[in-house]
Amino acid sequence: MNLSSGKVRALGLCSGGLDSILSALVLKRQGIEVEWVTFETPFFSAAKARQAAHSVEVPITVQDITTVYLEMLKNPSCGYGKQMNPCLDCHALMFRLAGKIMKEKGFDFLFSGEVVGQRPMSQTKPSLRYVEKASGFDGLIVRPLSARKLPVTIPEQEGLVDREMLLDFSGRSRKPQIELAEEFGISDYPSPAGGCLLTDKGYSDRLKDLFDHQKDYSVRDIYLLKHGRHLRLDDRTKIIVGRTKQDNENISEYFNPSLDTLIKVKNFPGPTVLVPYGGGKDSLTRAASICIGYSKAPDNREIDVTIIASQGQEVIKVIGTPPKEIRHLLI
Ligand code: SF4
Repeated sequence: MNLSSGKVRALGLCSGGLDSILSALVLKRQGIEVEWVTFETPFFSAAKARQAAHSVEVPITVQDITTVYLEMLKNPSCGYGKQMNPCLDCHALMFRLAGKIMKEKGFDFLFSGEVVGQRPMSQTKPSLRYVEKASGFDGLIVRPLSARKLPVTIPEQEGLVDREMLLDFSGRSRKPQIELAEEFGISDYPSPAGGCLLTDKGYSDRLKDLFDHQKDYSVRDIYLLKHGRHLRLDDRTKIIVGRTKQDNENISEYFNPSLDTLIKVKNFPGPTVLVPYGGGKDSLTRAASICIGYSKAPDNREIDVTIIASQGQEVIKVIGTPPKEIRHLLI
């Protein structure tokens, strides 16, 4: 409760989508003071949420939760979705962290824009219940867009929220949301969902490979999964081959000269190849040959390749391997 204004205060999770926006406006409409929190990790950004907060003038707190998120991601209690997305435990974690802020900053309850039945896995009634229980804030999470389809929450019981002014949306149709947006005069809103790398097959395959092969990975290793082609040479060695100029720049930025090896073809345009944490002589020669294969250097003749490692820089001569011969190594 805001002591000076006497207003009820609610803290919402914001993804930046229309449902988040509407859930905040539905509460605001009944005089509740709303604020948002949004979380950032290498897998999803806060950009959309910041934009939404700006457009509807709701104060927002942005928190980077990478460390605690990675802990959960290794072994989520409810497992993963189709890819490496642990949606239920992701939501539970976010509500748990939001609940901490709620307590610290004197908010009365939490809310989110979830709609019952909108997503097959994470928004069924049992899923919503799991999230409430696992978050540690059972009974304190209001879903303004679907509240009348769900059990009465504590803030409703206590009269902090008027249940009659909450909504009963359910299912996959977006029509009710679009009509409500019109009612609130909102015409410019981002498209629903998307933007979480953990639902992307290519990214998830690379993440799984990292978890399977490397016990002590760093946040930088997670960021690197976004860039270039990833090829596994053996259980200990993976290489990352830039696909575009931008990839090459990104890969070079993450290069740590005291740990990694960087490979480039000397006299022809070609990719930057990063070998995170270096590799043995055979692996580096193979990586150099792959690097040539993706470059503009001619086939079937020895080409100079520069190898930059913690021990120093050297130039070796190698014959390229055509990309079609190493397709099976792609992660
Ligand atoms: S899609 Fe990504 S951000 Fe959204 S709940 Fe699932 S894991 Fe979390």
